Amino acid sequence: MSNQQYIEIEDQYSARNYHPLDVVIQRGEGVWLYDVAGQKYLDCLSGYSAVNQGHCHPKLVEVMKMQLEKLTLTSRAFRNDQFGAFCKEICELTDYEMVLAMNTGAEAVETAIKAARRWAYQTKQVPDNQAEIIVADNNFHGRTTTIISFSSAEAYKDQFGPFTPGFKIVSYGDTQAIEDAITPHTAAIMVEPIQGEGGVVIPPDGYLKRIRQLCDENTILFMADEIQTGLGRTGKLFACDYEEVKPDVMIVGKALSGGFYPVSAVLASEAVLGLFKPGDHGSTFSGNPLGMAVARKALDVLVSEGMIENAYSQGTYFAEQLNQIESPHIESIRARGLLIGVVLKQEAGGARRFCEALEGKGILCKETHDHIIRFAPPLTITRDQIDWALERIVSVLQ
Ligand SMILES: *Cc1c(COP(=O)(O)O)cnc(C)c1O
Repeated sequence: MSNQQYIEIEDQYSARNYHPLDVVIQRGEGVWLYDVAGQKYLDCLSGYSAVNQGHCHPKLVEVMKMQLEKLTLTSRAFRNDQFGAFCKEICELTDYEMVLAMNTGAEAVETAIKAARRWAYQTKQVPDNQAEIIVADNNFHGRTTTIISFSSAEAYKDQFGPFTPGFKIVSYGDTQAIEDAITPHTAAIMVEPIQGEGGVVIPPDGYLKRIRQLCDENTILFMADEIQTGLGRTGKLFACDYEEVKPDVMIVGKALSGGFYPVSAVLASEAVLGLFKPGDHGSTFSGNPLGMAVARKALDVLVSEGMIENAYSQGTYFAEQLNQIESPHIESIRARGLLIGVVLKQEAGGARRFCEALEGKGILCKETHDHIIRFAPPLTITRDQIDWALERIVSVLQ
């Protein structure tokens, strides 16, 4: 089948809830993707940071193959030999007491919201059904009905109401706005330490530290959504590490899968996650041995293969070089580790056409919002590969 035939079938039978580039990928290896015609591309999206470890990492392939011939799903009605080990390993790596495993990012966010509400009723004596969660505008936390209820993006919400109450939206980066929104009913403040989908928006220095302080002073849970920024993407295990801040509730997903099998998790203290009782929350696929075996290895290779340090050093280099490009189109570069946003000027006519031009040169990336190109390659990328990319990025942006 030709490229065009694949596209026609997809567009006929799939709901059109995405607007993909017209490239049909067939194979991936490390930072590289290959289309059905054998053309090679550098992946600068990494499945929205779900593939931090690189495509088809051989150790993940091996562990997945081994596990899927042994046991794939028990449900948590029974125990399995991978689940406890996963819980112990992720808690030790991240320095949290407990974990609750789910599948997708949105489910982990939903879980964190439930945990915060339960915690507020039980430990803060907030009157029933009155718990409030403070969130930031321009956020992205997923696509469920409750989560879009507190989105500020019209496209995410239009004609999907009615919405879930209990959320207060304040301006991102503004701690005074948070302070003003706090009431005795506030259960949690939930933010992304860097807004990924929002356009790689990095808050002012001290933002996370101040949130930590406000939470401590007012007995509020600080919940960080690090589904995209976590697990090495920004050059540290968590983006919160840049301010040496430890949230009460840490939400991870995406790269916990190694790009293989969806696994997400909520990490917190026993005082928070211990409030869940048998029967009040769950998911059929959560904690399944296939996902757990893969997630254990996904975490292992991130650390043992130095991917987090590599993200730091290569990301610093990548951003430095991007900053030196003399382009009439570039407004600014926002970067932390290998999460990089190239903000284009209004006159540039949108990021989409640059992404299409980059595709023609063998680089796959996706615009976020209309005028920002995000570069987020797998954390295994080398200096040579970045130089290869820069040559092409320069030619497109100049
Ligand atoms: C991707 C993402 C989510 C949602 O994850 P899904 O697996 O797509 O449900 C939530 N929060 C952030 C910050 C994300 O980037």
